[in-house]
Amino acid sequence: MKKEDKLVGITIVPGKGIGSAYFIGKGVELPSKVSISRQDVGDQIMLFNAVREQAKREYKALSAPGPSTPAPALQTAITGIYEQILDDPSFIGQVVETISTKLFDLETSIRLVLNDFVSRFNASGTPYLKERSGDIVEVCEKLISYLHQDDGRKKTFLEPVVLIVLRMFTPSDILSYDKSKIQAVVSASGGRTSHAAILARAYSIPVVSDIRDLQKHIYPGEQIFVDADKATVYVRPNPAIVSKFAKQKTFHNELEKLKVKWRRPVYTRDGIQIEVLANVSLPEDVDEANECGADGIGLVRTEYLLSNMKKFPSEEIQYQYYEKIFEKLDNKHCVMRLMDIGGDKVPEFFDMPPEYNPFMGWRAIRILLERKDLFEAQVAAIMKAAKKRSYSIMLPMVTTLQEWQDAKAFIVHVADKLGLKVPHCGVLFEVPLAILEMNTFMKEIDFAAIGTNDLIQYLSAADRNNSKVNYLYNPIEPAFLRIIKNAITISRDNGKPLSICGEMAGNALHTALLVGLGLQRFSVIPRTIPILKEIISKISFAEAAESVLHIDPLDSTEEVSKWLKTLNKRILGDFLEKLPFTTEV
Ligand code: PEP
Ligand code: MG
Repeated sequence: MKKEDKLVGITIVPGKGIGSAYFIGKGVELPSKVSISRQDVGDQIMLFNAVREQAKREYKALSAPGPSTPAPALQTAITGIYEQILDDPSFIGQVVETISTKLFDLETSIRLVLNDFVSRFNASGTPYLKERSGDIVEVCEKLISYLHQDDGRKKTFLEPVVLIVLRMFTPSDILSYDKSKIQAVVSASGGRTSHAAILARAYSIPVVSDIRDLQKHIYPGEQIFVDADKATVYVRPNPAIVSKFAKQKTFHNELEKLKVKWRRPVYTRDGIQIEVLANVSLPEDVDEANECGADGIGLVRTEYLLSNMKKFPSEEIQYQYYEKIFEKLDNKHCVMRLMDIGGDKVPEFFDMPPEYNPFMGWRAIRILLERKDLFEAQVAAIMKAAKKRSYSIMLPMVTTLQEWQDAKAFIVHVADKLGLKVPHCGVLFEVPLAILEMNTFMKEIDFAAIGTNDLIQYLSAADRNNSKVNYLYNPIEPAFLRIIKNAITISRDNGKPLSICGEMAGNALHTALLVGLGLQRFSVIPRTIPILKEIISKISFAEAAESVLHIDPLDSTEEVSKWLKTLNKRILGDFLEKLPFTTEV
C-alpha cells in the first residue's frame, strides 16, 4: 500500500472529516471547442432556454421552506442569486451571441462566457468579486450538467465521502448530494466568504481549498482525512491518526448531552457568573442559539441581511428582520451591531468607490456617518421592532471619540423623533486607536465589546484572510494579551460590561486564559456555547486569575502556548483533546 501523503491548503471551514474520495467538477478550463452549422443555431438557443428554465425550477425547489435549521434560509438567499444570474440579460446575451456569431455549440459557448466572467472578476483584484465568481461557476456547471443528461436529482452515497472539487467550490457541490454522507470538502479554489463556504459552515462541513494538482495526489475511492483546523489533507492517512479521530467523534454524543445540560446560566467553581452569548447573522440562527443555551445574543451581524438584496432594504424590510430576531429571543438581551458594510462585505448593489485597501477604507460607522439615510433607516427599524424588549446598539469600527459622539447624538435624535427610549449604546473595539484610548470612551459608553478578528489584523498588520501572513495573526501574542487584559481592567474599574465577540472567544483553548484575564462575558458561535459553559464550570475565577499572572514575564507566542497547554491540562484534564474541532493555540 502506498504511504500517507500530506497536502496543505487553506482553511475555509474548520473541522475534521474522514471518508473516501469522490471527484466532482471538470474545472473551468474548456475541454475542446465544438462548432455547429448555421442551421443549428436556433436549436442551440432553444436548448439554452430550456436548460435555463430547468435550472430555475431546480433552484426554486431547493429554496422551498424546510425544517427550522440555519441552512434553509441561507439556501433561499443563495439560490435566489442563481435565479438572478439565469435571468441576467448580459449573461444570456453573451451566450446567445457566442452561439450565433462564433458558431459554437451550447456547452462551448457557456464555458467561453464563464471563463470570460471569471477572468474579469479575478482581474478586479477585490476578494469580494473573486469569491462572487463562484456563483457564476455554479450556475454554468448546473446548465452543463443537464446537457450531459444529468437528471439533477440528489445523489446518495453508500459510505461517508470527502468531495474532491477540481474547480472552484460551489453550493451545488453540497446541495446536489446527500449531505449526511459528506464528511469534508477539498477544493482547487474557493474563499472563506463565498456562498459555498457560508453554506458548508451552516452544515458543519469542513472545507480546505487552494490545493494544486489534486488529481496527481488523490485517486477516486482512496481514504482521505481532512483536518481543516490545520488546513491539511491526509491521503491514505496512517491508522494512528484515524483512531484518534474516531475517539473525537464519539464526543458528539457527549455534546448533545451538554446542550441539554447548559440551557441554564453557568458559574465558575467559586460562584462567579460568566455570560455566554451567541453571535448570529440571520433570524434562523437564533433558534440554534436557543437550543445551545445562549444567555442572550452578543452580536447580530446585521449586514448579512443585505446578502440577497437587489437594493438597500427599506426600513419596513429591516423592521421585519429585526422583529423576527427579537420574537425568537423570548426577551433575552440582544446586541444589534449596526451594519458593518465594507472590507470583504460589500453588497453588489452598493455604490462603493474602488479601494486599494478595503479593510482600511470606507467601512461600517464611517459609511453610516456619511450616509445618514441608511443610518436612520436601520436605527429606526431596530427601535420600532424592539418594542419594550431588552436590547442595545453596538457601533462597529469606531476609531475616534468624535465618531462615537456623532453616532450617539444621531441615535438620540432618531429616538426623539420617534418618541422612543434611547437604548444602551456601546462600542465594538476593533481599531487599535480606540482600544488604546478605551479609558476616554468609558465615561460615555454603556458597554464595550472587543472584536478580536479585526483588532488582531490591524494591530499586527496581518490580513485576517491571507494565509501567507497567518503566522503573524495570533491571539496569544503577549503584546495582544496585555492589551486585552488592560481593556478588561479598565471596563471593570468603570463598572461597564465588556464582552469579546471575535473568534478568539469561541476557541475552547482560550477559555481558561480569558477567564483568568477577568472576562465575564463571551459571545461566540452558537454550537460552541455548551462546550464553553462546561469548561467554565470547571474553572475557579480566583485561581485562573492567579495562574494568568504567570504570563507577565513571557515574551513569545511559543512560551505562552506552552504555558497555556499546561494550564488547560491542569484545569481540564483531557477534555480539550476530545473536542471535535479544537484548533491550534
Ligand atoms: C471582529 O472583528 O472581531 C468582529 C466581531 O466583527 P467581524 O468579524 O464581523 O468583522
Ligand atoms: Mg470586525
